[in-house]
Amino acid sequence: MIVECPYCESKVDAEEKGSVSIDDEHVPVPTKAVLLECKICHSPLYGITELIQIDEHSWEWDHVSRLWPAQDTDIDWGIPEIARISLIEAKLCFKAKAFSACAVMCGRTIEGVCKHHDAKTRSLALGLKKLKDDGIIDTRLYTWGEALRGHRNLGAHATIERVSKEDAKDLLDFSIAICEYVFVLNEKFNRFQARQNKKS
Ligand SMILES: [Zn+2]
Repeated sequence: MIVECPYCESKVDAEEKGSVSIDDEHVPVPTKAVLLECKICHSPLYGITELIQIDEHSWEWDHVSRLWPAQDTDIDWGIPEIARISLIEAKLCFKAKAFSACAVMCGRTIEGVCKHHDAKTRSLALGLKKLKDDGIIDTRLYTWGEALRGHRNLGAHATIERVSKEDAKDLLDFSIAICEYVFVLNEKFNRFQARQNKKS
């Protein structure tokens, strides 16, 4: 079965080690969850595949959509598009080892967070300050945001200084963390509080 292996960083042929078919009225074609082993690096992979028709008489299992380890483009759907698109690109830049570009896209992600909060935001510096002043982020996240802003500038301008792989990874993790904090966790907490208020 063909699947993308994150360790080999390419599409590989993987051996099926086990499967469970998914019987669900909402799934119109035969579908199964599969546990695979990459034939090159022997890593375990898990995903979903469906039966597709390849000619008049024959069917075969399609390329597997990997669920674990998570795909690089797997981003929580609670994150609005204005931040989401840049975050996906930041992940793709990192994967392509374009670390300066990754830093720039991380900066763009946080700009998206600021713009979502206040559409009139004119710069990342002012946007971050507003997020802090309005209590959307705390001091620690604000400090992280400022560090990210510095690296974004480093990545965006024509200098000979480069963003290292380690720094790019930290900036990426931070961008994901701030998006999840602002959009996913805050939202969960609001729903939790609404339930508590209803009870009392
Ligand atoms: Zn592999």
